[in-house]
Amino acid sequence: MNKKKIAVVIIAVVLVVSIVGGAIAWNSFKFIVDFKDTEDVYRTNVEAVNYENTIETAMPQTDLYGIINEHFNSALPEGKTEKKAIVIGYDGCRADILNEIQSENSAIASLVAEGASLKLAYCGGVNYPEKNTQDTSTAPGWCSILTGEWADKTGITANDIVKSVEPKTLLTTLVEDGKAESSLFVTRWAGHFSRDEATYVDEMKYCEDNNLAVTFNKCDNDEKSLEYTLDAVSKENCQDFIFVIYEPTDSTGHDYGFSYNNPRYKEAFVRADAYALETINAIKGRASYAQEDWLIILTSDHGGFGSGHGNESIQERMTFVVSTK
Ligand SMILES: [Zn+2]
Repeated sequence: MNKKKIAVVIIAVVLVVSIVGGAIAWNSFKFIVDFKDTEDVYRTNVEAVNYENTIETAMPQTDLYGIINEHFNSALPEGKTEKKAIVIGYDGCRADILNEIQSENSAIASLVAEGASLKLAYCGGVNYPEKNTQDTSTAPGWCSILTGEWADKTGITANDIVKSVEPKTLLTTLVEDGKAESSLFVTRWAGHFSRDEATYVDEMKYCEDNNLAVTFNKCDNDEKSLEYTLDAVSKENCQDFIFVIYEPTDSTGHDYGFSYNNPRYKEAFVRADAYALETINAIKGRASYAQEDWLIILTSDHGGFGSGHGNESIQERMTFVVSTK
């Protein structure tokens, strides 16, 4: 090869590398700075979902605690012999993505068609809509739902903080108070109870020390979480209170962007919604289903914006709640 040819090859290689590299960089930049994900567009998209309330009248996510507690403390309806409840979490699911429901495969569509309520809720602490007092993140969100308290009482302002035993979650109190025979927490994220700084390590130890029938089960991935939960609810004597979190929306959001404009995020939502429907169908398939009084709640811990969450944007602060009671 003569010098001229070598020069042409080098130029060609440099060109290809810059074009490919530029495209990759542009794509990453686009998802981190999503120009179409403005607050105005978000509000319009949320309004297009049939929520019973508005962004202004969103319920605090801590209210879910009271709904579940009330269910276990109220009288059994005629013909029912046992109280049961399940919370199915869609981790990091934004409230606007519900426009993408695929009705034939959707837990949300199925429950709403049967009369369940569909509402907006907020995470991030008590002073909504002012700046949040706890991160719009996983540990604070689920902890507020499970304890009915914000970080001023739970101490869980962010991920990787160990909660003291008090305030206890419903998983523990319902069993301790004899309202539920047993309870179950299923997740694939280690930050709940499977590493040193995990939120519930102290409460888990309390349950062990006091022989309470509370099962904390970490799965390797979402498919395993689904499999484990389907197996649990198919058992004749399944736990009375089940708390399972499916996490495709959160992981896809971190990898490719939390956005209504992101097809991968939409696909992750549809997948989580299908997992939830499989779970509900397994519950309805129980031999004793007709005698059981089930409360079913579908909800999220926080939304997301760009490649993450934790801050106070409306896209991060809004969550959704479907409740059969
Ligand atoms: Zn989360």
